Amino acid sequence: MASVASTGLGQIPIEQCPVCLRQSRGFGFRDPTLPGAPYFEACCLAHLDTAIHHWRTGQVLEPMKYERVALDLASDKAGEYLESLGKTDLATLTQEEWRGLLALIYATTSEAVGRLVAENAVPF
Ligand SMILES: [Zn+2]
Repeated sequence: MASVASTGLGQIPIEQCPVCLRQSRGFGFRDPTLPGAPYFEACCLAHLDTAIHHWRTGQVLEPMKYERVALDLASDKAGEYLESLGKTDLATLTQEEWRGLLALIYATTSEAVGRLVAENAVPF
């Protein structure tokens, strides 16, 4: 059974990024000045920063730059897809068209976030 950490973001298996739930990649941090501070491991430095910021401030997690970029890409692709169908009213989509739209958005955002996270190199 995987060990879990209480991160303030819930009980998260230690090997999972608490922001995106992807496999952590060794980006870890524990605040040495605070006894009992949780240990965070994340997939990238950006998500580690987000998790620590959330834990310290209690602020709700906001979509980060990777997710914003990915959503912008997905938005563009979704618009192109709907334009190719000649439909702008989502209520008129067939089930197949709706699933195609969802799959396109999911695939585009997943690929983009994964690629951007992978490009986030260790700075040393
Ligand atoms: Zn992550």
